[in-house]
Amino acid sequence: MSRVFNFSAGPGTLPEEVLQQAADELLDYKGSGMSVMEMSHRSSWYDDIHKKAEKDLREIMNIPDNYKVLFLQGGAHLQFSMIPLNLKNSGKADYFITGNWAKKAYKEGAKYLDAKAVASSEDKQFTYIPKLDESALRSDADFLHITTNNTVYGTRISEKDIVCLDNVPLVADMSSNILSEVYDVSKFGLIYAGAQKNMGPAGVTIVIVREDLIKDTDSLVPTMLQYKTHSEKDSLYNTPPCYSIYICGLVYEWIKKNGGVAAMQKINEEKAKMLYDCIDNSKLFKGTVEKSYRSLMNVNFVTGSEELDKKFIKEAAERGIANIKGYRTVGGMRASIYNAMPVEGVKALVEFMKEFEAKNA
Ligand SMILES: *Cc1c(COP(=O)(O)O)cnc(C)c1O
Repeated sequence: MSRVFNFSAGPGTLPEEVLQQAADELLDYKGSGMSVMEMSHRSSWYDDIHKKAEKDLREIMNIPDNYKVLFLQGGAHLQFSMIPLNLKNSGKADYFITGNWAKKAYKEGAKYLDAKAVASSEDKQFTYIPKLDESALRSDADFLHITTNNTVYGTRISEKDIVCLDNVPLVADMSSNILSEVYDVSKFGLIYAGAQKNMGPAGVTIVIVREDLIKDTDSLVPTMLQYKTHSEKDSLYNTPPCYSIYICGLVYEWIKKNGGVAAMQKINEEKAKMLYDCIDNSKLFKGTVEKSYRSLMNVNFVTGSEELDKKFIKEAAERGIANIKGYRTVGGMRASIYNAMPVEGVKALVEFMKEFEAKNA
């Protein structure tokens, strides 16, 4: 068996220990005589998995008691719709447009609400985080939506740069950087993330929502799209994505064992620095976003020649550095260095970049 260093943006790499444990437990989960995939979601076996996953996530993110943790389906995309459908009150919402996912959330929100783009960096291909002026925010908005990490272009809003009004719930899409750095959950009304970037397999979406935001919706909102439905039944209203939740639970245990989110953040900062230093000291490779807004998770770079980019991607793959190709509309290279990417993987990439530069610059 040989595993590559997988720099895929999503689904992303998972900790090898987690995959190994899942393999060990695949046929017979802890003496139950069956796989987690085959279990009733009403069984006590599964109930323990479900409850422990929630408990561990609460612990590692330090989630206050007045927040619900929901395990839902439909990806981050469905939250683009569920958020406006459930949080609608005045019928206004503000959106901070810092990337293509943020823009998609805004466009979907505009179907249900008076959605306002309060700032955007689209003028420069989302390569920076624009200044968000408080005077652009509406005090009667139902929420302000932000995307903490711009997966495609590789920028990030750090917690200190978040501007919001006290009485307006802050809603954050953390799909590509949840659990990668410490955030104070109490500053948010709602946090959501598709699991498949930094947390587990595709199929489950985590929603962390302050209890007062869970309320009755318009009667035409489908039952399955109401937070209340899932909140009242602890995400067991219908069959949840049991196996994906089980793997997420193993990832939470792995994070706990490795020192928690603060320890992840420290390693992530080191990994990102190694890669950005290599780019900044290179005569061949160039970063594509403004330095002060660089993502810790998705590192974009180019050679300036499409041909050389292609050659780099091909030769990297030949030596086990996989999925380093940039997003289809962006081109160049993108190295996604989520929690589960070991330091050795980043070292291997940096070494290869230096070698490639020596041969091709
Ligand atoms: C990947 C991604 C999405 C889309 O996630 P799906 O689960 O495929 O719907 C949304 N937002 C961000 C920030 C992402 O990285």
